[in-house]
Amino acid sequence: MRGGETRDYNGTRIMNPDEWEAVCKKCGKCCYEKVDLGGGIIRYTDEPCVHLDTETNLCNVYENRREAQPDCISLTEHLVRTLTWLPEDCAYLEYVRHNDTLAAVREVNKRRKRTRNAQRRR
Ligand code: SF4
Ligand code: SF4
Repeated sequence: MRGGETRDYNGTRIMNPDEWEAVCKKCGKCCYEKVDLGGGIIRYTDEPCVHLDTETNLCNVYENRREAQPDCISLTEHLVRTLTWLPEDCAYLEYVRHNDTLAAVREVNKRRKRTRNAQRRR
């Protein structure tokens, strides 16, 4: 389940689809069937999607997956942030969290700079 777009590490540029695609480490973990237990709890089963090659962890129909498997989704940054069932070590999840951490650090540094400048003006 890949595709879509997101910001790069700078948070200033939208990555093109190939760059976004390259983030996926192709582990295939998200391509296993899931069961909805209710209450927002979704669990993976041991059953791979019929189109997953379990030797390579690659999708056999990737270019046409939306036709072959209508419930297969293309991950976007928004989906990565909102879906609750992505594997904890999904590269997109790690990527978005890393971006958020960098953005938070930038924000703290900006605030410190503003405070220092304000103190100097006093
Ligand atoms: S069609 Fe199946 S194997 Fe292919 S990307 Fe979608 S979930 Fe994964
Ligand atoms: S779990 Fe994440 S990194 Fe692994 S195949 Fe799915 S989208 Fe790619």
